[in-house]
Amino acid sequence: MLKRIVVLAVLSTALLAQNPPAPKAASSNFDGKSWWDYVKILAADDMEGRETGSEGLRKAQAYIVEQLKAAELEPAGVNGFYQPVKFISHQIDESGSRLALVHNGKDEPLVLGEDAMFSTRVDLAPEVDAPLVFAGYGLRVPEKDYDDFAGLDLKGKVAVIISGSPAEMPAPLASHYQSTSERARALRAAGAIGMISIPNPGAMDIPWSRMTLARTRPSMALADPKFDDARGVKLYVVFNPADADKLFEGSPYKFQQLADLAKERKPLPRFALRASIKAHAKVIQKDVESDNIVAKLPGTDSKLKDEYVVLSAHIDHLGIGEPINGDRIYNGAMDNGSGSALILDIANSLQHSQVKTKRSVLFLWVSAEEKGLLGSRYFAANPTVPKGSIVADINTDMFLPIYPLKVLTVFGLDESSLGPLVRDVAQQQHVLVQADPEPLRNAFIRSDQYSFIRQGVPAVAMQVGYKPGTPEATAHKQWLTQRYHAPSDDTNQPVDLEAAGKFEDIIQAVAIRVANDPQRPIWENGSFFRRFVVVPNMGP
Ligand SMILES: [Zn+2]
Repeated sequence: MLKRIVVLAVLSTALLAQNPPAPKAASSNFDGKSWWDYVKILAADDMEGRETGSEGLRKAQAYIVEQLKAAELEPAGVNGFYQPVKFISHQIDESGSRLALVHNGKDEPLVLGEDAMFSTRVDLAPEVDAPLVFAGYGLRVPEKDYDDFAGLDLKGKVAVIISGSPAEMPAPLASHYQSTSERARALRAAGAIGMISIPNPGAMDIPWSRMTLARTRPSMALADPKFDDARGVKLYVVFNPADADKLFEGSPYKFQQLADLAKERKPLPRFALRASIKAHAKVIQKDVESDNIVAKLPGTDSKLKDEYVVLSAHIDHLGIGEPINGDRIYNGAMDNGSGSALILDIANSLQHSQVKTKRSVLFLWVSAEEKGLLGSRYFAANPTVPKGSIVADINTDMFLPIYPLKVLTVFGLDESSLGPLVRDVAQQQHVLVQADPEPLRNAFIRSDQYSFIRQGVPAVAMQVGYKPGTPEATAHKQWLTQRYHAPSDDTNQPVDLEAAGKFEDIIQAVAIRVANDPQRPIWENGSFFRRFVVVPNMGP
């Protein structure tokens, strides 16, 4: 049986002096209140939505560092708790940019923001003029012998795709091959120079009108060119599904027919389109610096203390943007003030706990998650502890305690030995465990755990879950529609503190179990993600 964690009520007086989460009661459980008090600070209006590189984010980070110092955790960054990271930002200047479809030699201008928008996730070329080819889901999955590009002539052309995957594709594979780097690799291999992506209407988290609000915000890339996965891709456009028929004019299919198939995850036809695209993109480029924050709780075992269990959460969010209902501050209370607060709460709790861990625990707040998992990508590739000494990453992003915690959704549940361990811990808390109920949303590659996975490190992420068809499922969906990446993801929203506390209990218990397990976590034999494990060179 797993012992419950005894959290001592004693917090340092320095911590109490500063504006404060109240000290925890001497109970064996988190109560959710200390966590929510941290969220209220990190997601307050004066943190200005914590955009990467902004003053608001620096302020939130300074608060975390202050708390870490007060709790006497060890700095484990490069400059104290900080690990500086360099980025380049790309911002589309729409007044100097144009998009048009060309039908029978005639230009039909597209309205930016209404019909389509540029994505600056790739290094957009100033001019592109190229024929279009519909390539279904645009997936190339060698292990399933699946290739949407096979038999199509894409040389010098732009692929039009609908996001999603056929039902035969296991979720992790589908997720992986929809990442920007894999997409770019597949496009390059096919000779295509760009992509027009139509969101699958069956899996849109947020409506088009809100997707487009952020389109002129800067996107970022890591400055070090070794991280440039999208090289060779000159055009990336996202097309409004409501207007997508314009792309299919003169073709044997209406968009609605294709969308119906994609919703059901059925096979899609692939064919050359009549139209071509003309793009003129003006991009403003700037240098940006932003830090990751790293703290350490040393392990007690003479050998295992040199190995690390990482608890990670992204601290950045979207900053100040287009107003919705008069509110311009995208506070990011759940996304991801919630995870950042949770890591801070657990760091405090473990530091003051009588339970000691054999391995060391690293608490990591990464920057630039919203820009494409960049801070974590940098950390996982350039860790501040020896490479290979990180045994697991347990990531928390937007765990959504908005209803009671009866089911725990575990992303990566069936992929590594972390899965059974999480299941065991959750069962002892009388919580059911399930894999991702909505594989189409790509959640497993959409947060920072993926950066560790790509370095071979077993990882999981968890959320307060729901069973399909229940009121919780409706509440979850509503939350995504109304609050996800909107200014209303703030601290005025309803929250279930008990669910949050129970979730914290589970994460902390999982961290302790992993840190004390004599065995390092390993990927399952059949796991797709095992491929990233670097086998050390054993010499001649
Ligand atoms: Zn987000």
